[in-house]
Amino acid sequence: MNAKGKGVTEVKAFSPAEQRAARSERIRVVEAEPYGWVAHSESSDEFRYHIFLEPHSRLLACTCADFIYRGNGEPGFECKHVSAVLKFIGRRYLATEYDPLRQRAQVA
Ligand SMILES: [Zn+2]
Repeated sequence: MNAKGKGVTEVKAFSPAEQRAARSERIRVVEAEPYGWVAHSESSDEFRYHIFLEPHSRLLACTCADFIYRGNGEPGFECKHVSAVLKFIGRRYLATEYDPLRQRAQVA
């Protein structure tokens, strides 16, 4: 058997962005009133963060400490809550709005 084939797991550290994306799987997201989303902390339901669309950049912003302290220095920074909301929006879009024919029309 070839050792380089499937089943051999390369030991590699995940990047901080990959770790946040993995942790985002355990975050519960709901739509907020009147806009945006609320993400519930993975450790406790007590902690809630508000995620909203930044009108100028068209990027999502979060009220958690990670985003506030790191987001300023790294444009496009995505905390685990933003990552969770992007998945939430993506799944909803696919379920309700995505139209393959419209996509083809835009590419042409
Ligand atoms: Zn956050």
